[in-house]
Amino acid sequence: MALSRRDAMKFTGLAAVTAAVSGYAKGTEAPQSAAKGILLSPAPVPAAKGARVVIVGAGPSGLTIAKYIKKGNPKVDVVLMDKRSVFMSGFISNLVATGVLPLEFITHDFLEGARNGSYTFLQATVHDIDRTSKTVYTNEGTLKYDVLVLAPGIDYDYSKWTKGDLELETALKTKFPGAFIAGSETLSLKSKIDNLENGSVFVQTVPGGNYRCLPGPYERSCLIADYMKRNKIKGKVVILDENPNITIKADGFHSAFEKLYGDYITYMPSTTITSIDPHKQKIVTELGEEIDFTDASLYSRVRGNKLLEIAGVAKDSVFNKGEANIDPFTYQVIGDLNVFCTGDVRPMGFSKSANTANTEGKIVAANIVKYLGGEELSRKTWKSPLTVCYSGVSGDPLRAISVHAEYSYDETKKSFGFANAGTMEKWDGADGLAGGKGLIEWGNGLYRDFFN
Ligand SMILES: Cc1cc2nc3c(=O)[nH]c(=O)nc-3n(C[C@H](O)[C@H](O)[C@H](O)COP(=O)(O)OP(=O)(O)OC[C@H]3O[C@@H](n4cnc5c(N)ncnc54)[C@H](O)[C@@H]3O)c2cc1C
Repeated sequence: MALSRRDAMKFTGLAAVTAAVSGYAKGTEAPQSAAKGILLSPAPVPAAKGARVVIVGAGPSGLTIAKYIKKGNPKVDVVLMDKRSVFMSGFISNLVATGVLPLEFITHDFLEGARNGSYTFLQATVHDIDRTSKTVYTNEGTLKYDVLVLAPGIDYDYSKWTKGDLELETALKTKFPGAFIAGSETLSLKSKIDNLENGSVFVQTVPGGNYRCLPGPYERSCLIADYMKRNKIKGKVVILDENPNITIKADGFHSAFEKLYGDYITYMPSTTITSIDPHKQKIVTELGEEIDFTDASLYSRVRGNKLLEIAGVAKDSVFNKGEANIDPFTYQVIGDLNVFCTGDVRPMGFSKSANTANTEGKIVAANIVKYLGGEELSRKTWKSPLTVCYSGVSGDPLRAISVHAEYSYDETKKSFGFANAGTMEKWDGADGLAGGKGLIEWGNGLYRDFFN
């Protein structure tokens, strides 16, 4: 029998061990997919008192789904898992890295969410999923589910730059992290910015494809230039953009680059990087340009989290590398209705952003409650998520521009596009200041919805 892609990964990546080794009696639920390093005893959570939903990933998507399933039907047993012990948001982290807001603003307590939402939080890393026996394998033990939600977010995809050279990839990740997965990378970015000095050349790359947070790299560039200006540092921010133009809120960012940061920001669109030397700190482009830099946040392309591949629910195409193979209207895995995939791993071209994951999470939670109640989900139950995104343009005073959009399905193109979209791109005057206030309120509103 031919090995499936998933089986092949298991046998090459993780050695299978027998039930006897793990202490499981023959004929019990000893998982055939058990692998070395995975604890096979049950995870330390109370026995399920009703149908159990296990959610992997406590980002904006998983946090919202956990809370709103319990609100929809308190009898459903919900276990939310994350490998992190503390929540740190990606959104608003550019303002923390540039010293405008304190780290506490974006740092939150998973346990508070669990207490207020009446669900169980388990800090654990998921290593494997067996969909036949409906079992999740973690470093804390195993969990059975009735419904599984996979919301593990993105992984970076360095292959375009490194062509599989792992030494280069590790050097890039360590020395110049993209800082689009919040945590240590956010702290690295902050220390890089704290160390800027006269003569600094800071490179910010913008990847192609549907990368996480379209305005994020432009927002960061503005805020670093603002930091240089405020601290009287004569430096440059060089934006190497793989795209032909700024991908969103282009008028607002272009006018900020020109009017606020003309002496600080160099914007280079349609720039394909052909080589990066992390030691000599030199980038060469397709057109032969050579850029020497003193520091950088090198944001590579992104892909769906590799956990989807391990679970055997990933697409593998150029456009949706590693993203979820789901029915775009119900979020259920094709061929396995008990598994839902949400947030930044969805293959629909929705903005990979927190507000989108939050509003989508409420819709998916309501659908899971219906599904557990015996209802069939279909295209008729689909609703659009709402993208709302503020981007800081300067830190002092705090000024921001914003975008809002819903989505609709285009039958001809067989894909989703923006609907009811609008932007506020005036960063100067009262509009920009109101945008700054709106940004703080928007962020606090999301944290409240996740944890209170
Ligand atoms: C710098 C930056 C700026 C941003 N700016 C904005 C903005 O202005 N507006 C906006 O709306 N959005 C913004 N975003 C994007 C937003 O943060 C993401 O789109 C959002 O976090 C996606 O939510 P998610 O729940 O799908 O994934 P994530 O937030 O990535 O959460 C996934 C969770 O899964 C956990 N996990 C992964 N694998 C495992 C495993 N095997 N076992 C256990 N746990 C696992 C991870 O630890 C993580 O906590 C920004 C992001 C960054 C980094």
